[in-house]
Amino acid sequence: MEILYQSTRDPLAKKVTASQAILQGLSPDGGLYVPTQIPIIETPLIELAKLSYQELAFKILKPYLNDFSTQELQTCLAAAYGNNFDNPAIAPLTEHAGAFYLELFHGPTIAFKDLALQLLPQLMITAAHKNQLEKEIVILTATSGDTGKAAMAGFADVPGTKIIVFYPKNGVSPVQEKQMLTQTGNNTFVLGIDGNFDQAQTNVKKIFNDQSFKQQLDLNGYQFSSANSINIGRLLPQIVYYFYAYSQLLTAGKIKAGDKINFSVPTGNFGDILAGYYAKQMGLPIKKLICASNKNHVLTDFFNSGTYDRKRPFYVTSSPSMDILVSSNLERLLYYLSDKNSETTRHLMEQLQEDGRYRITAAMQAKLADFAAGFADEQQTATEIKRIFKIDATAVDPHTAVASNVAQPWLTTAPTVIIATASPYKFPQVVWSALTDSAASKGTQKALAQLKNLIKVPYPPAIKMLLTTTSRAKQTLAPEKMKSAIENILFDD
Ligand SMILES: *Cc1c(COP(=O)(O)O)cnc(C)c1O
Repeated sequence: MEILYQSTRDPLAKKVTASQAILQGLSPDGGLYVPTQIPIIETPLIELAKLSYQELAFKILKPYLNDFSTQELQTCLAAAYGNNFDNPAIAPLTEHAGAFYLELFHGPTIAFKDLALQLLPQLMITAAHKNQLEKEIVILTATSGDTGKAAMAGFADVPGTKIIVFYPKNGVSPVQEKQMLTQTGNNTFVLGIDGNFDQAQTNVKKIFNDQSFKQQLDLNGYQFSSANSINIGRLLPQIVYYFYAYSQLLTAGKIKAGDKINFSVPTGNFGDILAGYYAKQMGLPIKKLICASNKNHVLTDFFNSGTYDRKRPFYVTSSPSMDILVSSNLERLLYYLSDKNSETTRHLMEQLQEDGRYRITAAMQAKLADFAAGFADEQQTATEIKRIFKIDATAVDPHTAVASNVAQPWLTTAPTVIIATASPYKFPQVVWSALTDSAASKGTQKALAQLKNLIKVPYPPAIKMLLTTTSRAKQTLAPEKMKSAIENILFDD
């Protein structure tokens, strides 16, 4: 049966093709697109293990992207996963201190977002062509630090697109900010807001659903789409590396085909770990998906109690990409937990909007057994960075450290893969302080050099580029001004 895409909120809304879902980003009723069914992978795991990353990606993605031809998808994949990664394995698996680390930071912006955002622009322009879209696509993106840069890098100078990124001006690391400000491409725009990620994301969603603004855009020849993980085209490519981690364990003789493994995932918007949930539904033998949070542990509390409550203090932490209180992809999980009940899902999302909290039923809660959840506070995160370095001289970034710390009680239950989401060079001050118990140099360049001296890892291309490119001027605004900033960019030529 052909897979189409439907909204999590409205059972009667028109089902759309994969390419249409990717172009739209969000369903018109405010819900998120989900596939009408999740395909089972029939190929034996031992056969999948023989495939390259690109070949495996084709195998996993083709059933979902069924209105893309074989040729189209292969062309997109070849452009996405090539020399733009500094490791030919794309997502190599390494072993440190009794756990496996899936290194997803070998792409152009040294964070895991590249695995999806190098592919999404390819899918989007192919989709635009396929649907005879005459309009220019405007990608609106809220970022907690890494999506912004990865999306700008992916869409830079892609004909027929513009990308506008909003980030919390005090909520990203100095390297993350500099990475965004040094991005080239006349079609890329980046703005800091006086607020946190949740405010940026909420306003982006509001702007998406603003019907009169949509008409105004339409008249001016524009259409919005999203590069956040609310876009199904961002989520699906992330399924691939769960299978790929398993392949590498098989090839290395660490497991036998069929053995169950754990994944520990540093979680913010719940996109990465949701891709792991899809992988499990597709037949990958996963024991536990461990949802790891930092001091903003709204998800840990949800998994342990069945109540989601965003009304709590917000903390800026050393792992900024997880500083999120409204995890947008949880909506897709609620849809599955309720046996694809759009009424229930919509109702819960309305409660979240109106009361700031909701509680799921006991039946839904019982289905959370696929997951485990925990959090690491700031001290535990720093201690974990130091512990791993002491054992085998490997430095991990703070997000990876959170997942690694939370995974510890699970290591004895099954081989455990920790999703290593960023390079330590993205957070040089934090990593240096954790390793040496002393304050790092304030300047980014000095802090990087200091860390390099200590961990003896060559700079990845992204860091070399950062050090040699001048920044554009930093622009900031109040969250309420986001819409008018977009108008200025799009209508004021
Ligand atoms: C985005 C990000 C995360 C969180 O991923 P989600 O899909 O939002 O849950 C974790 N670590 C890093 C480094 C990230 O950039």
